[in-house]
Amino acid sequence: MDASSAGEGFTVALASGETVTTRQILLATGMVDELPETVGVRERWGTGVHHCPYCHGWELRDGHIGILAPGGEPFAELRVTLLRGWSSNLTLLTDGSASLDRPARQRLEALGARIDERRLRAYEDGPDGGYRVCFEDGEELPVAGLFVAPSQHQRSGLAETLGCGLDTAEPNPAPFVVIDSTSGETTVSGVYAAGDLTGPAQSVILAAAGGARAAYFMNHALAAADAQAALTAAGLPAGSDGD
Ligand SMILES: Cc1cc2nc3c(=O)[nH]c(=O)nc-3n(C[C@H](O)[C@H](O)[C@H](O)COP(=O)(O)OP(=O)(O)OC[C@H]3O[C@@H](n4cnc5c(N)ncnc54)[C@H](O)[C@@H]3O)c2cc1C
Repeated sequence: MDASSAGEGFTVALASGETVTTRQILLATGMVDELPETVGVRERWGTGVHHCPYCHGWELRDGHIGILAPGGEPFAELRVTLLRGWSSNLTLLTDGSASLDRPARQRLEALGARIDERRLRAYEDGPDGGYRVCFEDGEELPVAGLFVAPSQHQRSGLAETLGCGLDTAEPNPAPFVVIDSTSGETTVSGVYAAGDLTGPAQSVILAAAGGARAAYFMNHALAAADAQAALTAAGLPAGSDGD
């Protein structure tokens, strides 16, 4: 799929070979999660491996939660911060020596996380619906589930192709599409965006709400433009566009 500006609107080339013209575009193409390479993690994504404490914290409450943060990456402390309300039994797995300085270690430990720097061999199903972290030294650690903080990238290049502004500023872990917080319009007039591609607060209900909000303002803009054209054709001045 490809899209480009065309006069007052846009031309969209579909994978089928068909080309359509449109006055507006709503981008809702989502993000791609870049998962850790550990054997068994990808296969258990969404069942034994999670990223969102708000989506899956309840299921793992009071259980032993593993937090896989290779090297002790920067979002490890945020994961611990968000998960310690669900369980006091947290193990941070760094899969090798962590690049954590002394204050970072002290903070994590004060927040209740154990730090395990052993190299991982695999992540497997365990007994009773649980899971186990398998270390290269042959030992195993039973867990109720594993949390990761995957990096993300835009699933589609459409936003960039259309010239939409992307926010790459810290502390965002990914380049999200910049939108007006009221209308959902991107930095390109007539192009709106909703859902995961607009920011790190990612859930079904937020994505649906973003889509509904954008649709409200897209229709508003189209109706206002059509009304303006009708009034101009009738030789009348534009009225109030209300809401
Ligand atoms: C493992 C996992 C578990 C989750 N659990 C929960 C949960 O329990 N509760 C919750 O609320 N949220 C959960 N989420 C988050 C939720 O799935 C997302 O927030 C939501 O799906 C985002 O919707 P979206 O429409 O923005 O993007 P997506 O759901 O990613 O949809 C984007 C769609 O656009 C399509 N697309 C992309 N590019 C193109 C193109 N060029 N042409 C045509 N189509 C294209 C993609 O194929 C995809 O179908 C979970 C996410 C994951 C990964």
